[in-house]
Amino acid sequence: MSRMNQDGPPRRRKTCGFCADKVEHIDYKDPNRLKKFVTERGKILPRRISGNCASHQRNLTVAIKRARDIALMAYTADG
Ligand SMILES: [Zn+2]
Repeated sequence: MSRMNQDGPPRRRKTCGFCADKVEHIDYKDPNRLKKFVTERGKILPRRISGNCASHQRNLTVAIKRARDIALMAYTADG
């Protein structure tokens, strides 16, 4: 009997950019990088769009918030 893995969608290789770069701590002082994960309106991209893994997405969220705190990044335009 062959056991095939038949549930779930085909696995797309969605690499987390931070994992790929072996980034362990996302630098909040690097807004150019953070900006890629924020929409024009200043919203953080959800993980399914950004392709980040859970832990980096979390790190990213914190980094972006921190960057905003020190005014490196704008808050949402429609705040
Ligand atoms: Zn990652």
